[in-house]
Amino acid sequence: MIVILGPDVGEESPEYRRILEHLAAKPNIQTRVHREVGSIRTVTEIYLIGDTHTLDKNEIEALPGVERVVRISEEYRVVGRHKNDDRPAGFGYNGIRFGQDNLNLFPGLCAVDSRENADAMFKALKSQGQRCARMGAYKPRTSPYAFQGHGKSCLPWVFELAGKHGLQVISMEITHDSHLEEIVAALEKAGRPTGVMLQIGTRNTQNFELLKCVGRQHEFPVLLKRGFGITLEESLNAAEYVASEGNHRIVFGLRGMKSNFGDPHRNLVDFAHVPVVQRMTRMPVCIDPSHAVGSRERGPDGILDLCHAAAQGVIAGANMVLVDFHPAPEKALVDGPQALLLSELPAFLKDMEITRKAYEQRRELARASRP
Ligand code: PEP
Ligand code: MN
Repeated sequence: MIVILGPDVGEESPEYRRILEHLAAKPNIQTRVHREVGSIRTVTEIYLIGDTHTLDKNEIEALPGVERVVRISEEYRVVGRHKNDDRPAGFGYNGIRFGQDNLNLFPGLCAVDSRENADAMFKALKSQGQRCARMGAYKPRTSPYAFQGHGKSCLPWVFELAGKHGLQVISMEITHDSHLEEIVAALEKAGRPTGVMLQIGTRNTQNFELLKCVGRQHEFPVLLKRGFGITLEESLNAAEYVASEGNHRIVFGLRGMKSNFGDPHRNLVDFAHVPVVQRMTRMPVCIDPSHAVGSRERGPDGILDLCHAAAQGVIAGANMVLVDFHPAPEKALVDGPQALLLSELPAFLKDMEITRKAYEQRRELARASRP
């Protein structure tokens, strides 16, 4: 059960104290307070855990200072979308809004390899009015002998260049909690020229200690990729791990599932699950067509499979697209074969604009014709 307090009921107010006293007198009920900081208002929510079925919703709703009480299902208590739960989905970060009703694009390098390539990537994005990018500094690789990313050594110039070109949010995977400290230190030293979204990769979806670590910090939002070999329920529980530690700013990422049934694509594209995750949870949903498709093959219509896959996710209402680009894919140290060229960026952005408009028209049509 979630007790949502009125906008003026802060933790200092007498109403707040009385509400907590009232709840403390209930047997077998524990409370956990969460403050949801929004751009318009900050909401205080009290999560009730334990024998909540014995509680009377109307009695709690009648307490002064309580705006609303939402009875939640046992599953995905924090990230879930519950019955009669019309709380807004999403969050703002560093001037960018992440919601279930809008779209942000994150084109960029799979792996940062050189200062020149990072600069060229950011420059191309800036020339197209883009404000977000992907940039991998820590790379989990199948082979221990493969390039593992430049790690902390590239952070100073990646952040400096991002700031120089006006990029506001960089999505960057971390594979260990020490990487978080390294990112904080490098950002601090650079004077916080950009924001960072912490990416948890598909291989770490069930690295519970890492999930708790990104959940305990409140500075950075988290992009949690779906595990490529586990159920959707297990991946959504992974998101709940992050949220249960206090960080509710989570984007859920679909990136294809490991299965030979998807051949010749690298993974079986699962973007039909965009509306499913939006219905089950309040998280914005990201798609990653690059790691899903994994090649630059194109159909007889001339369109790249990965652009078709991106369009499939966007036309289904995806809220974020993570996509690999590289100035010279043949020289890329990671995932060159699936990278788009910088010269393909304007057409890719146009394709996404056309597809998003088509989605918005479909949404209008559905609203107008709903029985
Ligand atoms: C990535 O986005 O760089 C990546 C490694 O993705 P995934 O974890 O989905 O394989
Ligand atoms: Mn990659």
